[in-house]
Amino acid sequence: MRSGKRSFVVKSRYEQFRVRLAREESELVLILRGAEEQLRGLNSDAIRDQSESGAQRDVLAEKTNYCRHKLKLIRQSLDRICTGDYGVCLSCGEEIDKRRLHALPTARFCLECQEQYENGRLQTDQFVTGRNSWTASEAGTGTRG
Ligand SMILES: [Zn+2]
Repeated sequence: MRSGKRSFVVKSRYEQFRVRLAREESELVLILRGAEEQLRGLNSDAIRDQSESGAQRDVLAEKTNYCRHKLKLIRQSLDRICTGDYGVCLSCGEEIDKRRLHALPTARFCLECQEQYENGRLQTDQFVTGRNSWTASEAGTGTRG
């Protein structure tokens, strides 16, 4: 038995968030799969029962969109835990308050930047759209250093 020495695999200080996010991810994948299957079923029934399945389809389509969006955020967060960028504001580079992360584990901005973001004062397209994840190489081109 070894003790006292630091192992190569250092457990992230955000391990609890990783576990929580990973669990949420697998739950969401199941929900999404179920909704997509239902949606497919409705599409094939659509000719028989147009109005009712139409409304149901809208609800399901909204649900799958929401799940996909959330899944994306969760996967980005898991990526950031892997690369060590998790818990750091993507805008100002400050650490995000842990209480905020507890409330919202997928938070990408500190409270201050989030407010600016919501007011449209923060340009975040590069973080939010067009890419699957925020990569380490992009992080290196920022204002740090
Ligand atoms: Zn910030």
